[in-house]
Amino acid sequence: EFQKTYGQHILKNPLIVNAIIDKAAIRGSDTVLEVGPGTGNLTVKLLSVAKHVVAVEVDSRMVVEIHKRVQGSGLESKLTIQHADVIKTQLPYFDVCVSNTPYQISSPLVFKLLAHRPMFRVALLMFQREFALRLVARPGDELYCRLSVNTQLLAKVDHVMKVGRNNFRPPPKVESSVVRLEPRSPPPPINFVEWDGLLRLCFTRKNKTLGSIFRQNQVVKMIVENAKTYTSLVGGPTLLSDDALNRMFEDALGVSGTGASATKKSGDMSDIEDDDRNEEDEPDESHPGAGKSDELRDAKQRIAALLEQRGFAKSRASKMSIEDFLSLLKSFNDVGIHFA
Ligand code: SAM
Repeated sequence: EFQKTYGQHILKNPLIVNAIIDKAAIRGSDTVLEVGPGTGNLTVKLLSVAKHVVAVEVDSRMVVEIHKRVQGSGLESKLTIQHADVIKTQLPYFDVCVSNTPYQISSPLVFKLLAHRPMFRVALLMFQREFALRLVARPGDELYCRLSVNTQLLAKVDHVMKVGRNNFRPPPKVESSVVRLEPRSPPPPINFVEWDGLLRLCFTRKNKTLGSIFRQNQVVKMIVENAKTYTSLVGGPTLLSDDALNRMFEDALGVSGTGASATKKSGDMSDIEDDDRNEEDEPDESHPGAGKSDELRDAKQRIAALLEQRGFAKSRASKMSIEDFLSLLKSFNDVGIHFA
């Protein structure tokens, strides 16, 4: 039952353990954060190369287990065990993060790490294969999604190695992969609330053209309303608030970014970012007559002209790079259109 609740799959292959430690390139002066040390297979290796290890473990039985294992090894003074849920606890300072992550907390963990300050140097994270492939997906890849764009906006992400189910005890249902995350420091100087607002629109139908997305009444209405209420945020547009980040990473796999209370699985992605349809033309829904729809029609025309002029009318989110999205946001902002 515990194993089910906490996703306890112990990494039993020492070659994989060593490869992870190797790729983390830990220095003798580093403090390492380990998430979910379990019985300590990674922990003991980390202790031998790092200056200090802070291990955050939610299961008290595992806390006891790892205490026992390290006791009398001469390394115990290098280890701090924090008995807590990593998503709910305040993280200490760390240079490197290593985690064989319980898969239910994948998305909130990525968010939490990328929001952490001061920024760490590198993280080596074991994820369910599909989640890992989403993190590293490039424009045009089938798994390219909002999670890919948002993660790669804030970090350099690499797929380090595949890890088969049989390297764990008990074997999980799915294959795994190790991902390397290196935060971009400083993060790009944009308003992340707007950024996320724009991305959500573009990815509602990632294979639909922007021209088609931005002529939907609902979307145009929202843009018109935003233009009336928008005020540049106090503290500057670059403010990377917890709240903004949280929004960027919630729903990433149909899970909330705020806690480990994740219930949905990766398959549920479909209801957020669906589909492969290439809808070109939607009927123009605006009704002529009233002043309200004049406003809407004008806005629609202005947006269509802008997209055309900046070369985005035929673009589709599924094929757009981070630079494309940044330039799209700037194009909108230049003419006073905002998404927050
Ligand atoms: N690191 C060990 C290894 O590689 O053999 C164990 C990995 S096991 C997949 C995940 C570990 O994370 C378990 O020990 C589990 O109790 C712990 N865990 C699960 N949810 C957690 C959470 N929210 N915060 C901290 N630890 C958690």
